[in-house]
Amino acid sequence: MQNTNGKFNIGQDVDNKIVVIGAGIIGVTSALNLLREGYQVTLLDRDKPGETCSFGNAGLLALSSFEPNVGIDALMSSPKWLLDPKGPLSINWRYFPKLLPWLLAFVQACFSKKIKSNAQALHGLTSSSLELYQQLAETAGCQNLVKKSDYLQVYRTKPEFNKAESGMQTRRNEGYKIDVLDAKAIKQLEPALSEQFIYAHQIHDHGYIADPGELLTCLHKQFLIEGGLFEQANVTDIKANAHSCQLITDNKIYHCAQMVLATGAFSKRLAKHIGDNIPLETERGYHETCHSPAITIVHPIMDGDRKFMATPMNMGIRFAGTTELAGLDAPINPERVKALKLNAKDMFEGIDIADSSTWMGFRSTLPDSLPVICCSTTFPNIIYAFGHQHLGLTCAPKTGQLVADLVCGRTPSIDITAFDIKRFK
Ligand SMILES: Cc1cc2nc3c(=O)[nH]c(=O)nc-3n(C[C@H](O)[C@H](O)[C@H](O)COP(=O)(O)OP(=O)(O)OC[C@H]3O[C@@H](n4cnc5c(N)ncnc54)[C@H](O)[C@@H]3O)c2cc1C
Repeated sequence: MQNTNGKFNIGQDVDNKIVVIGAGIIGVTSALNLLREGYQVTLLDRDKPGETCSFGNAGLLALSSFEPNVGIDALMSSPKWLLDPKGPLSINWRYFPKLLPWLLAFVQACFSKKIKSNAQALHGLTSSSLELYQQLAETAGCQNLVKKSDYLQVYRTKPEFNKAESGMQTRRNEGYKIDVLDAKAIKQLEPALSEQFIYAHQIHDHGYIADPGELLTCLHKQFLIEGGLFEQANVTDIKANAHSCQLITDNKIYHCAQMVLATGAFSKRLAKHIGDNIPLETERGYHETCHSPAITIVHPIMDGDRKFMATPMNMGIRFAGTTELAGLDAPINPERVKALKLNAKDMFEGIDIADSSTWMGFRSTLPDSLPVICCSTTFPNIIYAFGHQHLGLTCAPKTGQLVADLVCGRTPSIDITAFDIKRFK
């Protein structure tokens, strides 16, 4: 199949062709950026666009959530979280043996000296999110989905508030305006909130997406309008050399000069075909969207104790978050759904959750809580863009630009050394 130059002998010019695998928010923003650089871009996904993780998230553009989810605090809080059935973390113990290597790497990352510099690197991905979405949405005619807003993080007790305060100070040091609210001020801003919440941080000038699935659909449509091609195909194998790639799918082989792997939590399996063994796990998260909630909220609100969001969306109020470590194959866990519903009622006593829909999605997470955005270790024409954990929606527009920088051979607009896969070698 290969000729004497080491190129695949496919009888056609593939130099300008790029295939992006994965039509989640990372794949779609990457594909749009590449198209605008003049490449012929084909986007592949085994599902219809917008059906996986990027569909059901909490919608928050978390510009100032740049501190990685690792560290002594996360480690110390984990046993308490695991013991609380309504808490933010659960483990499927049958999956534990498979999870163990990732967990050990996570514990190691909690003691890393790089946590501070990693936070700076992550901030490079999050800080411009609102502005970049406003630009993207304008070209796609869906500006109404991108909302500028403050968001609230609310607490039941002083110790929980105090625990969050040092992280808030780090954010203030980066220029974010964050006010402390008492019970009366909370009630004025969000009257429907339970009176249990007596402390809050009001984090100014952030944003949210009023329907993440709809945003993805609009950006995908824009990609097609600008000349991109989408095909529904399940990639099962990748063969590559330094000049070209062959993507083997269930019913067709795709040939291209370069490719982008943006398959979220499913990237580990495909990266292995390229020769990279990546310590990627999935943090499963749930949402419950209440379509006729009988209450209204104005801001995205995070329960600071139980770590889930309530976001005012076009289709109702969406409760989303929490982490379940159970791998890619386990079914939806009814206990996690029940906990989220109980938490929603606990947060807003007047809420009606009878008319609601349940969803579970797979976040992709590396042990150090940073994404992978780089070339593969074996082939410079294969770009990786996955592992965005709890922040993939926020980080997508910047990631799309960085992918284009890498493909075009430009120096990336921010330092992306921290996101290189070589950190795990
Ligand atoms: C409950 C919850 C709440 C969240 N809230 C927020 C939030 O408020 N703010 C925020 O910034 N982030 C949030 N996130 C995280 C965010 O949703 C993800 O980081 C982001 O959606 C990841 O996007 P992605 O494109 O990498 O992956 P995905 O959206 O999972 O897309 C990957 C795509 O690859 C495709 N694919 C996989 N394997 C193959 C294959 N072999 N062949 C072809 N196609 C393939 C899949 O079908 C899928 O469409 C949340 C996540 C969850 C679960």
